[in-house]
Amino acid sequence: MLVVAPDTAALPAGVAAALTIHRRSYAGPDDLAGAWLVHACTDDAEVNAQVAADAEAAGVWCVRADDATRSAARVPAVGRSDDVTVAVTTGGDPRRAAALRDAVLSALDTGILPAAALRHHRPPATGGSVALVGGGPGSPGLLTVRGRRLLAEADVVVTDRLGPRELLDALAPSVEVIDAGKTGYRGGMDQQTINEVLVERARAGHRVVRLKGGDPFVFGRGGEEALACVEAGISVEVVPGVTSAVAVPACAGIPVTHRGVSRGFAVLTASPGSGVDWSALAGVGAETLVLLMGLARLGPIAAELVAGGRPASTPVAVIAAGTTPDEHVVVGVLDDIAARASEAGIGTPALVVVGEVVRLREQLAGRPSDAPARGRQPA
Ligand code: SAH
Repeated sequence: MLVVAPDTAALPAGVAAALTIHRRSYAGPDDLAGAWLVHACTDDAEVNAQVAADAEAAGVWCVRADDATRSAARVPAVGRSDDVTVAVTTGGDPRRAAALRDAVLSALDTGILPAAALRHHRPPATGGSVALVGGGPGSPGLLTVRGRRLLAEADVVVTDRLGPRELLDALAPSVEVIDAGKTGYRGGMDQQTINEVLVERARAGHRVVRLKGGDPFVFGRGGEEALACVEAGISVEVVPGVTSAVAVPACAGIPVTHRGVSRGFAVLTASPGSGVDWSALAGVGAETLVLLMGLARLGPIAAELVAGGRPASTPVAVIAAGTTPDEHVVVGVLDDIAARASEAGIGTPALVVVGEVVRLREQLAGRPSDAPARGRQPA
């Protein structure tokens, strides 16, 4: 490539090394000899006009940096995201084109634009893969950027009852959606079948996303699915998720730890047969307990905690469908929470928070979780 310019100080050293440079002013049509594309990008409109006219006369494409409307050719703002190249031209405003290009690239990178839809004629990938994606507790905004990207690129999505199910509506029609619809311990597709589906679809060359509620490794049996893939020699990526154990209390105004109130928290499954020694847990002091899958056994568990030494007046919150518009919160104390929850007809999915941190809800609730903290405004 040939550069004609009296001053080339602005050229980065690495770029300059790859160019033939004539350090002088434009000298007429001879400078264009042998070229098929010319950029007229001096800061002098007259020179640019002269270059453009000479190029036109010589039958060479010319891009004018100062005036796209008088350009024979225009260059798009170009960028790449994986195997997709994005090129944007606008009505002659290169900065607007660059800004649009960046917006499209970012939408591809974050999965807001469905990259899979752009891939109808893609030959089957040579190696399929499985991504175990933590979908977060339900609100679509609480899926990670990486998770959203993988979802947008998926050929096959295997879903759960929990997680951001709204996002499934945005998938391209060509994406196969398999609803494993597990309703807790009551059944749905059994784990062995799910493992087999993941492995079989990946072996067929598909990009498989296993979209799970919350974090895949928190009571999600994600570890078993990951192991099944590893054993079958399938490449597997784990994308952590925002676990309901922390996020659902948070969005309801309950921090699981708080200075001077609780120095830690334990997350336990309270499903029948979990074998947790509740009276022993009562002894860990004022620390917070978060119980998943525990609604049905709330009464007996609360009684065991009291029997083990937690005061009957310990505050408890039951939160159903947290982070979604259907969120339902019932607050009580160990002594009365089971009765209150059943009176309120609270549904599932629900979790239980036990501990003094529940009292903070009075001050913290009522502020949307995505609103800026008080006293701070977005820039
Ligand atoms: N892997 C998930 C948990 C799966 S176990 C995670 O990290 O969040 C399923 C249990 O999670 C439910 O029985 C319920 O106790 C809890 N849960 C999940 N989503 C919830 C939500 N939006 N609101 C309340 N509880 C929820």
